[in-house]
Amino acid sequence: LLGDDGEVRPTIFAEMSGLAVRHGAINLGQGFPDEDGPTEVLEAAQRAIRDGHNQYAPAMGVPVLREAIADHRERFWGLSADPDREVLVTAGATEALTATLLALLEPGDEVVTFEPFYDLYAAVVALAGATLRPVPLLAPEFEPDLDRLRDSFTDRTRIVLVNNPHNPTGAMLSKEALQLIAELAERHDAVIVADEVYEHLGFESKHTPIATIAGAAERTVSISSAAKTFNVTGWKIGWLVASPALVEAIVAVKQWLTYVNGTPFQHGVAVGLGLPDEFFSGVASSLAHKRNVLSAGLREAGFSVSPSAGGYFVVADATPLGYSDAATLCRELPERAGVAAIPLSAFVTPENRAPYESLVRFAFCKRIDVLESAAARLASMG
Ligand code: PMP
Ligand code: GLN
Repeated sequence: LLGDDGEVRPTIFAEMSGLAVRHGAINLGQGFPDEDGPTEVLEAAQRAIRDGHNQYAPAMGVPVLREAIADHRERFWGLSADPDREVLVTAGATEALTATLLALLEPGDEVVTFEPFYDLYAAVVALAGATLRPVPLLAPEFEPDLDRLRDSFTDRTRIVLVNNPHNPTGAMLSKEALQLIAELAERHDAVIVADEVYEHLGFESKHTPIATIAGAAERTVSISSAAKTFNVTGWKIGWLVASPALVEAIVAVKQWLTYVNGTPFQHGVAVGLGLPDEFFSGVASSLAHKRNVLSAGLREAGFSVSPSAGGYFVVADATPLGYSDAATLCRELPERAGVAAIPLSAFVTPENRAPYESLVRFAFCKRIDVLESAAARLASMG
C-alpha cells in the first residue's frame, strides 16, 4: 500500500496524468478513450435523468440493467444468469474487485495472480490481510509458465485472480491455461475471480470467459465494466456475475462501500448492452487498427514492441533506445517528448521488478491522429 520510502503515494495513473496535464503531453498513460461512445448510450442516461431516475438504485442495481447483463452474457458467451440473484451492479470493476476480495479473503489466505497485474490487486489483497502469490508473465510474449502456475497453488490458496485480456501486457490466455486454472481452482477449492473488463476487446481471436470452461462457472466471479466497451470510464458502472451464495457474501461488503451506484448511468449502460452484435465487433476492430498504428509508430521510434492481442495497451522495451530504467524515462517523457506512459514496474511487486525495468506500457485507446502525433514526438525525442 505504501511506496518504497514507506509513504502513502498517489497511484501511478494519478501521477502520470498529473505530469501529462502539467506539460501539455499526449496522455498514453492512464487508459481512457478520447472519444465518446455510442450516442444511444449517452442519450439513454440523459433521458433517465429527465424521466426522474435520480434517486438511490436498488441494492443489486436497477432491474433493467441486471436483466441486460444476464441477456448479454447469454448472447455472447452462452452462459445463463439469474438477474435477481446472480448479478450485482457495482461502482466500476474496481468496486466489484474490492468487494469480492474483501468478502472472500481472511488474513493469511493466498491469492494467485499473474504478474504484472493491475495495481489495485496488490493494494486490496493487502487491505484484506492476505498474501499475493504472483506468477510471472515475461516479455516479449507474456505467456504464463504453466508449471509455475501449478506450483503457486497451496493449501492456503483462496482465490485465483485472472485478468484476461490482460492489463498491462495485452496478452490473452490460451484455452490450455484457462483449463489448467479451472482445474487447479477445483483441486484447491479456490474461487476464480475473473477480471474481464476487456471481454469485447480480443483482436485476432475472440475472448474466452473462464466461466465457459467446464466446471468453472459455479466457482467463478465474472467481473466486467461499461467503461471500456462504451467509452464511459467516468460513469463508474461495473458488475459481477456469480452464484447466489457468492453474490450474497459480496453484497454484504458492497453495501458498506458505496451502498448503491449512479441510477441514470445504469439505465444508459442497460441500453448499451442491448446494442447489436456489430457494435461490439466494431469496437474491437477499431481498437485493433489503433493498436497497429501505435505499435508501428513505436517501432519507428526505436522501441522493441511486444504483440498485443487484446485490451487497451501495448508494451514496448526502451532498451534499444539506450534506456534501462523505464520508471525514470516515464517521469521525464511528458516534458521531454510531450507524451505520457506508464512504466511496467508499477504493476509488479518491488522484489520482482528486475525483468520489467526497461518496459513501458502505452495506451492506444486514442484517436488515430493523436496516436500518430505521439509516435512522431517519440521518434524525434532528443
Ligand atoms: N481491471 C482492469 C484490468 C482495468 O484495466 C481496470 C481499469 N482500466 C479496472 C479493473 C477498473 O475498471 P473500472 O474503471 O470499471 O473501475
Ligand atoms: N484502468 C486504467 C488503466 O489501467 C485506469 C486506471 C486508473 O486510473 N485507476 O490505465
